[in-house]
Amino acid sequence: MKEYYEAIEKFHQKFEMKDTNNEDMNFRLNLLIEELGELAQAVTKGKSRENIIEENIDLLNLIIGNFVSMGIGVDEIDDAFWKKYEKIMDRTKKKVNNGNYRVSEFKE
Ligand SMILES: [Mg+2]
Repeated sequence: MKEYYEAIEKFHQKFEMKDTNNEDMNFRLNLLIEELGELAQAVTKGKSRENIIEENIDLLNLIIGNFVSMGIGVDEIDDAFWKKYEKIMDRTKKKVNNGNYRVSEFKE
């Protein structure tokens, strides 16, 4: 995580993103939606594994960039990750209405 974070932090510094629209979360949400659309196209159009990996990396970089933009450091991300991980590991897996399986906090 630390290496990725520092790399994206360097990217933000190189392109002087601080205090510009580049670090504005509303702008970044649009970028995320755009990249999610690209991933959706790669998957639904049966693009190559390499292309699907690249689109996932675009999303990963943007998400790490969100943390950089909000001044959320590696330690805070690490704490939040493991806190959430504990929660998801306590979830259950069920077959839902459409026949797909989901892991979630199902309410009885
Ligand atoms: Mg892309």
